[in-house]
Amino acid sequence: MSYNGYITETRIDGSDDGPLAGRSIAVKDNISTEGVPTTCGSAMLESYVPPFDATVVERLKQAGATIPGKTNMDEFGMGTTTETSAFGATENPVAQGHVPGGSSGGSAAVVAAGDADMALGTDTGGSVRCPAAFCGVVGLKPTYGLVSRYGLVAYANSLEQIGPIAPSVEEAAELLDVIAGPDERDATTRDATEHGETAYAAAADGDVDGMDIGIPTELVEGADKAVREQFWRAIDELEAEGASYHEVSLPSVEHAVEAYYVIAMSEASSNLARFDGVRYGVSGGYDGNWNETFATAREEGFGPEVKRRVLLGTYALSAGYHDKYYKKAQDARAWVKQDFDEALEEADVLASPTMPVPPFERGESLDDPLKMYLADANTTPVNLANLPAISVPAGETDDGLPVGMQFVGPAFGETDIIRAGSAL
Ligand code: GLN
Repeated sequence: MSYNGYITETRIDGSDDGPLAGRSIAVKDNISTEGVPTTCGSAMLESYVPPFDATVVERLKQAGATIPGKTNMDEFGMGTTTETSAFGATENPVAQGHVPGGSSGGSAAVVAAGDADMALGTDTGGSVRCPAAFCGVVGLKPTYGLVSRYGLVAYANSLEQIGPIAPSVEEAAELLDVIAGPDERDATTRDATEHGETAYAAAADGDVDGMDIGIPTELVEGADKAVREQFWRAIDELEAEGASYHEVSLPSVEHAVEAYYVIAMSEASSNLARFDGVRYGVSGGYDGNWNETFATAREEGFGPEVKRRVLLGTYALSAGYHDKYYKKAQDARAWVKQDFDEALEEADVLASPTMPVPPFERGESLDDPLKMYLADANTTPVNLANLPAISVPAGETDDGLPVGMQFVGPAFGETDIIRAGSAL
């Protein structure tokens, strides 16, 4: 089955030895690769070839990995299904007729199909965890600042991180060991060793004896019945291994999706201003009027979802509306962060379904953007709070559709979520 996981197939060789020697790591197409096209799933960048490697790509090469290709994605990371790509939708290789999730759908699909050993995705509001859940593999979004964003084409820079997608928690943790750590070219990176354990692969020991799991009721109640069943079955399994759980409340998450989309679209409207056909992107020609030139480039280069978000983001930031939307969203973000911090004082990790629904049927959400946005209810709060989270397979619905379980940890507490995930 041709599921359209790659935009560009290639072979970038790494050094001869290192912890990833002999392994293939696919890279999402919004992460810069020197000499190899990096399109962000957009016609705007169809012929863009970066002159440099992202820091994570440099680290993969040094670790001995081979990069077999650049993976398909929703245009500029904007989507939950990998259907907004200018290069055609990716299909879910393990659930025919269904979407692979998004926006890193290509990365999850090539791992699920066995066409790469592992992959890198990016997660602004769930784009590593959602496709991992929908394709039945593991995906980890690191704490904001653990992994360098140098060379990542920005969508909403205050929210996003590059993260590993792999068949198992241990492999995802091995990949994290390679890409994590400070980078002088990204001033938001931190040295996590000051915050605790940083040997990620070693933490995949499955030992949850004595672990205290908080379950935010708000993130479970809204999920489909079939998803809730698999979630509670997985919790039973963890209890049998010595973990205990208690319910917690995160009242602020009711506003997380709204706050996320206001902030993400506002940042996107600013970040995507550089695609004007002069600095970057397809040329809009020139016949005496630069405004026309820019407008033509953006009209031709961007797809409908990107246009919608640039328009809404520009509106939210405009004079007179800034306080009403953007500032309110920032207040909500602070509240979400505070709620998570309080809940994590009483628990080692928090657990919820990754996605409230099983994978959509193809085409199902395209006509209804709001429906697609609301599916991000459980993932976006974690980005607002800058915390680490992992999605691991938790079972299947009666129809054989994958269900993912999300564990959220304290800032730089990646080892806690890796331990919990590896127990499942
Ligand atoms: N689905 C979310 C969005 O469309 C998340 C995307 C992402 O994490 N890149 O913005």
